[in-house]
Amino acid sequence: MVRSYKIFILVTLIFIFMFNINCAAQGQTTAFENLLHKKFETYKVGYIRGVGFLYEDIPNHKSGYGYEYMEFLSNYAHCKFEYVEAESWDDLISKLRKGEIDLAPDMPGDYKKITGVKIRRTDHVVGRYPMELVAKELKPKMKLGTTPFFHDIPTFPDIAAEDGFTYELINFPRIVDMHRAYHEGKIDGYIDALIDTPNAKDVNAFFDRQSYRLMMLDNRQELFDRINLAMEQLLLYQPNIRDRLNAQYFLTHGFPLTLSRSEKKYLEEKKVLKAGIFLQHQPYAYHDEYGNLVGVMPEILLKMSEDLNIEIEIVDTESLQDAKDKIANGELDFVADSVCDYSWAEKFNIMPTKPYMNLQYVPVTRKDFEINPYKPMKIACVKELHITKHYIEQHFPPDKRVYADTIEQALEMVNAGLADVVYVQRNSAHSLIEKVGTYMLEVKSASIYSEPRSLGIYSKSDPHLWLILNKEIGHLDPDWIANLVNMNQQTSTPISLKWAIYHHPLRMFGVLAVLIGAIAAFFLYRARMRQRHFELVEHMAYTDLRYDLPNVRWLEREVPPVVERLKSNEPNMKIFIVVFSMVSSAAATETQGHRLIDKQFKTMAENISHESPVIMTAAGIDIDHLICFCKSESVEKFIEWVKAVIESNKYMSTVGEDTKIVLHTRAGIAPYELNIPVQQSVDRALIACHQIDHDNVKVFDEKLEETLTMNHTIEGRMEQALADGEFKAWYQPKYDIRTREIVGAEALVRWISPELGFMPPGKFIPLFERNGFVIQVDYHLLEVTCKLQRERLDAGKEVVPISVNQSRLHMTEEGYLDKIKRIVDTYKLPAGTIELEVTETMFGDFDAKSGQSNAEYIINKLHEMGFSVSVDDFGSGYSSFMMLGSLPMDVMKIDRSLLTGADKSPRLREILQNVINLGNSLKMRVLCEGIETEEEEKLLLELGCYYGQGFLNAKPMPMDEFVAFLEKRNAEVRSLDH
Ligand code: C2E
Repeated sequence: MVRSYKIFILVTLIFIFMFNINCAAQGQTTAFENLLHKKFETYKVGYIRGVGFLYEDIPNHKSGYGYEYMEFLSNYAHCKFEYVEAESWDDLISKLRKGEIDLAPDMPGDYKKITGVKIRRTDHVVGRYPMELVAKELKPKMKLGTTPFFHDIPTFPDIAAEDGFTYELINFPRIVDMHRAYHEGKIDGYIDALIDTPNAKDVNAFFDRQSYRLMMLDNRQELFDRINLAMEQLLLYQPNIRDRLNAQYFLTHGFPLTLSRSEKKYLEEKKVLKAGIFLQHQPYAYHDEYGNLVGVMPEILLKMSEDLNIEIEIVDTESLQDAKDKIANGELDFVADSVCDYSWAEKFNIMPTKPYMNLQYVPVTRKDFEINPYKPMKIACVKELHITKHYIEQHFPPDKRVYADTIEQALEMVNAGLADVVYVQRNSAHSLIEKVGTYMLEVKSASIYSEPRSLGIYSKSDPHLWLILNKEIGHLDPDWIANLVNMNQQTSTPISLKWAIYHHPLRMFGVLAVLIGAIAAFFLYRARMRQRHFELVEHMAYTDLRYDLPNVRWLEREVPPVVERLKSNEPNMKIFIVVFSMVSSAAATETQGHRLIDKQFKTMAENISHESPVIMTAAGIDIDHLICFCKSESVEKFIEWVKAVIESNKYMSTVGEDTKIVLHTRAGIAPYELNIPVQQSVDRALIACHQIDHDNVKVFDEKLEETLTMNHTIEGRMEQALADGEFKAWYQPKYDIRTREIVGAEALVRWISPELGFMPPGKFIPLFERNGFVIQVDYHLLEVTCKLQRERLDAGKEVVPISVNQSRLHMTEEGYLDKIKRIVDTYKLPAGTIELEVTETMFGDFDAKSGQSNAEYIINKLHEMGFSVSVDDFGSGYSSFMMLGSLPMDVMKIDRSLLTGADKSPRLREILQNVINLGNSLKMRVLCEGIETEEEEKLLLELGCYYGQGFLNAKPMPMDEFVAFLEKRNAEVRSLDH
């Protein structure tokens, strides 16, 4: 019964208590709501300019701590404030007394001292500021300014005693006058509330924090209630308004640094402070490209060292544990990046200062990981990071946590999938991810929590140090620190390959793929070009470009394996090489030119290649030579086939005409055996071909073998023979048929060899034409002849023009004209002393425009150098009438073949006559070679040819003989003339 009575009393008390609370709360709300239902009022607020309550930062734009506070307040007070400026505290009080203002911010001072008016102040504080002592320097005796209503400042006498000065106070009714007096040096300093201090750098000490409220006349009860209630509401709903306004308006760029005498003394004695940093990554502390420790922490420490005028040495600290050990050993005075948590710091023997920076923590995950509040995730946590660990252990169960020694290790765990998330300081998240070197991780969202960072001072340090560093932190400009963080972040991301891969993995992959592709394409292109180049070189090496047919070199490569195969299949089959040599009549060459013959050659090659005996065809070294490798059962059958081929290709059809031109084709045959080199077999067939007299087919035999052997001997010796002077110039005189006077000579080579005996040119010149050695022989003859002429000129002897043969090979020889010019320059012979004998074949493809202009160019150049040029063997079937028409030749040498028989055949005589007429009409000197009989001489005279060369007059003779012959003959002729 007693028990239930007690319970009843308890329940009743609880009910009454709850009811009272509710009523109180309702009562307050009601009072405020009543205020809102009151009449909207306008109040005048007085303020003193220059104390930071209200000012115009830009024209017509009001700003200031008090202004912003009052404007917020007006909304709660259901009123509007109008602001009235006052000159001084006296003026402000006077305005209040006169009713010119309703409200004013109050001032430090004793209000009871105000006479003639009763003032009351709000319960709530608008702001709180310390007092400041401003002085450029502290002197033993100070004249210090102060404003009226200055109340007793309890701690200032102590400050003066500590800093060792005495002072006299001088009252200034207006703050502006006090500031002016300070600047003009009329006072040593002043004491004021630190609201908006204009001389922050001169602040020497702070003391006695002052609160300021709003004041009004004591009798304004209604105003007092309204403002007091509104201030209550303002602080209820914006409890941090004073901090916010302080941060915005009140010394936002750092508090003045004021060190007491004992603090200064401590620093002077200490000399060096040793600081450790364990937050060693960007942007906090990291090594730059030169290996220097840079970043936010080192810069803050440097600034502290400058402000405090003491050296701060940064001691390398690897980890928090290392820092702890070093602190315990007295190696560190403080750590620069302590967590601001006393309970945690205690374990490390450190005391944190006020924080100077807040580190924001953000989650880092793999790119493919979605943070989902409903999905469990595993978190990597660094053992030593206190707040992080604390936060994580509060929010994640043990089975969802994995621990790492370092933040890098934690990131690697997430990268490897051992955890899903790691919380990393926002400012260093990117650089840490880059340091780990993966592009799989990304910073996910905004900050999850923050961690204040302080300086951690060794707990056994002199207490001055803690006080000094706290003051220094208050002195640091927070904006400057924020900028430091930004700057170190910006510079911490140099654009490197690693950076690019991390930030743009796909793009980098693309660029890499393109690069590799380009390099591969380049090498492929080069390989293809090389391949094409090799193919081209090979094609050129194994192709006769004139006929676009394989050449002898190609045969050398291809024939042996083919023949080997053939022989194994058909052992009785015989292999032959046949060389077809096509010679068109002079008339055909004249009218159709070489092009058509070439065409015919190709057609024939094409046709023959389809014939059954033919294994393969190729072009020979000489023009118009077609080589065929063939098989046949017997030589007889093969000869038969060859003759049939010649017969079927006897005629050359001209383009667009019905006329047919006879093509003289000769064929040399040689058997081929695998043990004989291909080139040798070809040479044998060629020799056979060259030896043909009447028939048109010849098979190589033993006798021809001798010729071949001879050719090999000649080729083996020719060079040494030239060096040894075995090639002699013999001279055959040219004469005037009418008088027999010697009018010139032709140089003809003779090889007088100790081994081979005397050799006429017919034995070696055709071979030299084939192997090119004729070029050297020609220069030798020209040189010897020039020398002879020069010697005779120098000796004052008679000189007649001497002609020297020029092989057709000179046309394709590089620098032909230059070499000729060098010889001319050496002997400086007068024009007309040397004549060059050329045949039509010298100008190769004369029908082509380019061939014509080339021939013309050469003849003109030879003329310019003083040579006359004669057309040799004219009418032999090689000379070209077209050439005669367009080239400025000097001498026409009629071939002996035109002369032979002309005395018996009227038709041949007619031809000879016309040729002589042609030469005369072209103003050429006409000379006939090969005159053997007097009848021939007589005939030539009758036909108008007055110059000749032949055995009848004189055979070719050695130089000495010729010289003697010339002198003797011409002396005789001249004596007869006389
Ligand atoms: P070619 O230039 O037409 O020389 C004239 C040839 O006719 C010479 O033969 C000469 O001895 C010969 N001959 C002269 N008078 C008579 C005659 O009344 N009756 C007969 N049947 N023949 C006569 P050779 O000296 O044996 O020269 C033959 C060819 O060798 C020359 O014909 C020329 O094409 C070439 N040759 C000679 N020496 C040289 C040289 O130094 N360089 C070059 N490239 N070719 C040369």
